Amino acid sequence: MAESFKDHAARLLREKRAGRWYEAGLRFRCLAPNCVDCCSGKRGAGYVWVKIEEMQALADFLHLELNAFTRKYVRQAANRYSLIEKPNKDCIFLRDGGCSVYPARPGQCRTYPFWHEVMAGPETWAKESTHCPGIHNDAPIVPADEVTRQLNQDRENRGIPARD
Ligand code: SF4
Ligand code: SF4
Repeated sequence: MAESFKDHAARLLREKRAGRWYEAGLRFRCLAPNCVDCCSGKRGAGYVWVKIEEMQALADFLHLELNAFTRKYVRQAANRYSLIEKPNKDCIFLRDGGCSVYPARPGQCRTYPFWHEVMAGPETWAKESTHCPGIHNDAPIVPADEVTRQLNQDRENRGIPARD
């Protein structure tokens, strides 16, 4: 159903208040499997944070009991949990040039590059393009509403309040 003028005006006002700097959408298309940079140790050590429900989904996908899964694939860092890495700092599930648990990958993997810190503004987004070749001027536009959906998913994962 088409958005009424009143709803349209209300949405524009909300966006203005929320400071949606990416209103025109953002150019991004993941280049996997030709690129696996964000899963690899290319940028050094890192964390793939997992919550209990994400560990359970991965355990189910691998047909493992949760305890067996966590013993084999999870480490504790501060008071959170992360997937372990290979000695070369690749994610433990990066195999044969791709994610071996793709259907059950954690939220952090699903929402990249629309992460809270990357989405702080045009400058941080532009800077991220130096790490992610999927962010480039010839990539298709991801509409602002989809960007917001993924950004809010990332914020929810981290316990940060969502935005309109
Ligand atoms: S770095 Fe970007 S293009 Fe490469 S796999 Fe990750 S999201 Fe895709
Ligand atoms: S779980 Fe899969 S998508 Fe996430 S970092 Fe590891 S290999 Fe990449």
